[in-house]
Amino acid sequence: MQICFENTDSVFEVSLKPASFTVMKNSDTLFSYDLMGRLLGCFINKKNYRRGLDNSFQIRYRGYLAMPTEEVLPENEANNIVEAGRHVLTELLSVVHNGKNKLFRDMIVKSKNFSWEKLNSDGTRFRIMSGEVPILPPDQYRSVVLRITEGCSHNACSFCNLYKNLQFRTIPKSQFRLHLDRVAEFFGTGLSYRRSIFLGDANAITISTSSLIDRIEIISAHSAFQQQILGGFGSFVDVFTGTRKSSEEYKELKKFGLNRVAPGVETGYENLLKFVNKPGTNAEVIDLTISLKSANISVTPIFLIGLGGIKFKDEHREQSLKLIKELPLDNTDIIYLSRFTPSSGSRYESNLKSKNMGVLSEENLYKELKLWKSRLKTIPAKVVSYNFTRFVY
Ligand code: SF4
Repeated sequence: MQICFENTDSVFEVSLKPASFTVMKNSDTLFSYDLMGRLLGCFINKKNYRRGLDNSFQIRYRGYLAMPTEEVLPENEANNIVEAGRHVLTELLSVVHNGKNKLFRDMIVKSKNFSWEKLNSDGTRFRIMSGEVPILPPDQYRSVVLRITEGCSHNACSFCNLYKNLQFRTIPKSQFRLHLDRVAEFFGTGLSYRRSIFLGDANAITISTSSLIDRIEIISAHSAFQQQILGGFGSFVDVFTGTRKSSEEYKELKKFGLNRVAPGVETGYENLLKFVNKPGTNAEVIDLTISLKSANISVTPIFLIGLGGIKFKDEHREQSLKLIKELPLDNTDIIYLSRFTPSSGSRYESNLKSKNMGVLSEENLYKELKLWKSRLKTIPAKVVSYNFTRFVY
């Protein structure tokens, strides 16, 4: 449903869709909300802003060499964005009356009620319920994350502190049921914005196939998540844990809706993998991909552009491209080229310095990305670059 309202100074185009509510003022300012009224993002003064469920804000623009760039927005500026949105909604309320426009009016009131303080406490509630969601594959940014495990079963890669403070564990079924109820209640009608289900955290499908199926069945029986189940389940997997499951087990999981898996490959240069203390071999990457593809599960392997610095740049690229070309990919798969940034304070940073390996400049990183992409033009899968550190969920 779309409708236009006007006052003496402005024209408002208001749109209420099954997944979101948007308000455009004078064709140059746009705010979008989920159906609970939580701000999702906006476009003001030719700048794009995104809000995460933990109430972190990000500004997105074309930066150096026109590369898509994202920055965390300081709290006072984020507060200003929220108030700008509420100001537009207040203007709109004065021209949208009850009666035939009641649906619009209710949605405007709901969205306006989310003051900065309310969004902040909402963000805290989200963090208590779901922890940090530090990373997702880009095709899963609009998923609803359900945690069947916490943390990372390896938790020892030298560049990664994402789950450092979490002891890996499988969430017991009773706690998982409670988690689902809380997530359903938190999202409410805002769940309609979410397209699929992502099984958290770092390598959730490492748990036994029977435990995994138990939890998928619990989700499938929950009335709140029916719409998202249609988009299927996704998860990260690490090569060294993913190969523990047979292709028969993956076929079984596919029957239960697992249709997208993101292996954290990082590099096809095995010496570099050892250098960053990540187990796995290229033969295992190929085996895992064959198992997943034979089960008709799409794969989205992630490679880290810039990993290993200047010293390993050429071997990293050449060995990774060779590996990618050996994978049985099709047009449902995506190769992710992630601009690499180590977690701050990680062992990787000190190793790189002590071994004098050199860090790729922004310009060289950009050149590498272009080179990887041009060399992958002929593969059947899509090739997509992104920046994993600048993600808001
Ligand atoms: S990169 Fe993946 S496997 Fe390694 S510690 Fe981080 S989450 Fe765990």
